[in-house]
Amino acid sequence: MATRNTGSRNPERDREIHKEYVEKGTSLRELGAKYGISYERVRLIVERGGISPEQKVRIRRMQSDNRKVKWTCEYCKKRKYLPRSEAQQRRFCDRQCWSLAYRTYTDEQLLMALRWLAIQLGHTPGNKDLEGHPGAPSHALYYKRWGSILHAQKAAGLFPNKRGPGCSPITPAFDGKWAYLGRMTLEEAMKEA
Ligand SMILES: [Zn+2]
Repeated sequence: MATRNTGSRNPERDREIHKEYVEKGTSLRELGAKYGISYERVRLIVERGGISPEQKVRIRRMQSDNRKVKWTCEYCKKRKYLPRSEAQQRRFCDRQCWSLAYRTYTDEQLLMALRWLAIQLGHTPGNKDLEGHPGAPSHALYYKRWGSILHAQKAAGLFPNKRGPGCSPITPAFDGKWAYLGRMTLEEAMKEA
């Protein structure tokens, strides 16, 4: 029994691979991982399918769109490199970050997080401070509950500060009342509330 070595054993799959390469610009490596075959095998399949010079140009363009860009998880603030298209849509690294970001906080927990951050930073935390700190509630939550970050800052007993570092050092009175938060983690401080 002679085995054919010119054709494909799986023409349907090969057509799919060729189609994805030409239409989406998926890299050979990614296609190999997706279909569980080697890079070299994918390269042969794609070559066998044929690629016109125009397609080649388009594929190169799509592949540059797929190139990795810096991305930050909205919850844990971990940085990664993701394909540009994914980076534009993805907000959290995984389900855990997603559910932690959307857990419900009481008003008092949100205020406690502001006070905790104020003690850590030495000034009233603004939007950027909240977004820049791992595990801190999103500034959007403060907007939702208090109408503005300034109102939330006042509700927490802080000197209002919209501009970020250096604008409003926390007062000695505030420090005296909440200094103990400096010895806690954010999680502990929010449990305290
Ligand atoms: Zn994350």
